[in-house]
Amino acid sequence: MIAAAVDLHVHSTASDGALAPSDVVALAADREVRVLALTDHDTLGGVDEARTAGRDHDVHVLTGIELSARYHGGQCHLLAWLPAEVPAGFRARIDELGELRRDRARLMVERLGTIGVDLSWEDVERVASGTVGRPHVAEALVRAGHADSRADAFARWIGEDGPAYVPSGKLDPEDAVRLAAEAGALVSLAHPRTLRLDDEALAGFVGRLADAGLGAVEAHRGDQPPERQAAYARIAARHGLLVSTGSDFHSPAREGRDPRRLGFVDGPGIAPDALDALLSRLPGAPAALAR
Ligand code: AMP
Ligand code: FE
Ligand code: FE
Ligand code: ZN
Repeated sequence: MIAAAVDLHVHSTASDGALAPSDVVALAADREVRVLALTDHDTLGGVDEARTAGRDHDVHVLTGIELSARYHGGQCHLLAWLPAEVPAGFRARIDELGELRRDRARLMVERLGTIGVDLSWEDVERVASGTVGRPHVAEALVRAGHADSRADAFARWIGEDGPAYVPSGKLDPEDAVRLAAEAGALVSLAHPRTLRLDDEALAGFVGRLADAGLGAVEAHRGDQPPERQAAYARIAARHGLLVSTGSDFHSPAREGRDPRRLGFVDGPGIAPDALDALLSRLPGAPAALAR
């Protein structure tokens, strides 16, 4: 693992991270991260706090979000780094998607009730400080004694084949890319591995997203071995896209067993010229880092 001066993929309590946005920034400062993007799942709720903390800690904090898109057989997440003045239309659309997520989680709670699993909406709200998702429903099921672990809750009730599963009203990948790109964002395909495609199919998928306005592929990640990083970078290059770098940090408590450590990337990480190209296209980022 190498320390990185730029970390464009981190989570806070505004979604499923363990640290408050200001604490994420303080940790980044400790690790000498110079440019940090807060990218919580489907919310900009932590960004103002993080940007304020960034001014105190001398860290460039960028406005980011990780959009979940509709995708079968894996996960499709898109990182969007936005201008500091986020267009009102984009904010409104994100708020609307958050509302839909709440309605959907409520529906799952109702379905659980009809099959005799007694959980209240308040039980779910208590564990969700930001956008609500199945991990929160799973945690509430564990706390209410209905499941031994979150994984158990997914396996028995809310996994895609589970009796209480309700699909979320997510955007299609191309629509998500368009929405963010039209708001002035640079958009990157997060952790391509979770699409569960071979490299040829992945290249095809990336090509379609590129036509919709995708700008980058997250090739350099905390948890990806060097040969995978190189393969993703090749796919990005095939479509004339940038590569992005980020840890996907969620929690310091997990850092011992989780390679997603704030400010660290496995292997050689992003090349200096690729980093310069990325910085030059990132809204609100310094044009270059002193080396
Ligand atoms: P949602 O977007 O609300 O449908 O929640 C999806 C999230 O649930 C994913 O990002 C994972 O973090 C988590 N998840 C999905 N499947 C499982 C599983 N079988 N066990 C534990 N967590 C899961
Ligand atoms: Fe997450
Ligand atoms: Fe993700
Ligand atoms: Zn993430």
